[in-house]
Amino acid sequence: MGEYTLRCAGCGNLLGDSATSCSLDNGLPRADYIERRFAPRELPGIWSFIDWLPVKRWNPATGASSITYRSSGLAGELDLNRLYISFSGYWPERGAMMRTCSFKELEAAPTMQMLLDNKTEEILVVASAGNTARAFAEVCSITGQPLILFVPASSLDRLWTTVEPGKVLLVGVNGDYADAIKLAGVLSSRVGFRPEGGARNIARRDGMGTVLLDHVRRFNFLPDHYFQAIGSGTGGIAAWEASMRIVADSRFGEHLPRLHLAQNTPCAPVYAMWHGIEEMNFDAYGCPEGMHDDVLFNRNPPYAVPGGVRDAVTSTGGRIYGMDNSRAVSAQKLFESSEGIDILPAAAVAVAALVDAVEAGFVERDDSILLNITGGGMRRLEEDQSRMRLKCDLMVGLEDFSDALSSIEEMVSS
Ligand SMILES: *Cc1c(COP(=O)(O)O)cnc(C)c1O
Repeated sequence: MGEYTLRCAGCGNLLGDSATSCSLDNGLPRADYIERRFAPRELPGIWSFIDWLPVKRWNPATGASSITYRSSGLAGELDLNRLYISFSGYWPERGAMMRTCSFKELEAAPTMQMLLDNKTEEILVVASAGNTARAFAEVCSITGQPLILFVPASSLDRLWTTVEPGKVLLVGVNGDYADAIKLAGVLSSRVGFRPEGGARNIARRDGMGTVLLDHVRRFNFLPDHYFQAIGSGTGGIAAWEASMRIVADSRFGEHLPRLHLAQNTPCAPVYAMWHGIEEMNFDAYGCPEGMHDDVLFNRNPPYAVPGGVRDAVTSTGGRIYGMDNSRAVSAQKLFESSEGIDILPAAAVAVAALVDAVEAGFVERDDSILLNITGGGMRRLEEDQSRMRLKCDLMVGLEDFSDALSSIEEMVSS
């Protein structure tokens, strides 16, 4: 089981078990697992990586893992010899069983298990514009744990579960994703509630890190390159951290995979920061309106913090790509026709970056490449599964929020 000490990724300061910050700098907390060898166990889904997850027990009803396979279709199109695809979503023909269709399930399952292990009475509060909310709603409906979701009004129709909805309170926000984050922050700072923590939540990062672990388990080596579409970049940090654990084991390679992280321009804050563009006015572009996928827009990514995105990309010799909608659209078509499964638009941005890297010569024909398809199979799911819309329990705005707070507290205590 995942026994660990918690340290600041910046200064190495030893932190308390449930710390989300360091008092000496603003580095991310990172789990330093006692187990140094990579030895997956005979357990279902991501729980086979339990030694490198911050949980003590596991629930077989949650924790579907990504699947990894060697590509022939897309690999042929791009003339690559060693292209590996990690798929998070619903594709039963290949054993992918994430019913909410994105790798946010890799974060939700260990986060909820960690809360269960800690026997906390606090109620988790999550702000999301889509995939994260769906993943947490599904997992909590399975485990029976309570959950409060803050979701912008325009995203409410993206929320459904494939199981009977459990103790999930859905709060619609008259405003955008940033407003939803603000209101969730107010509630989660009150007694009895707990913020989900975003990139600072080690269960989230180490859950996403299993993408890389699944590749190593299956193919026994670390890839030369890792491609992923990012909003906050948390998945990129997770891949970097998982790679460091694998390198420390020394049997699967000694070089960290280069991170190739992709954003959707022009709504691309991480891309702008990486290229030193300081004053980017995303409102002038109307972001996140019009994006190929708005889940990739995050105004406050953990970029410059110790152990954050910049450190991850720099220390692996990686790059950050800006892909516009037209490149994402053609990459999506290319992937879907060559691999035979539908993907979420966010994942197409990663495919576009891979196409760009091949054209520009950033990757060689014989390099081993892991392409993280972070979401897909939504159309495939519709063939098999009925979905239950989550009903909105309450609409709130920034102005009337103090009244709303007491209604929310009443609703959860009843
Ligand atoms: C959230 C999300 C991403 C971006 O993830 P990061 O947290 O920025 O690493 C990419 N693809 C999909 C489908 C997502 O839901």
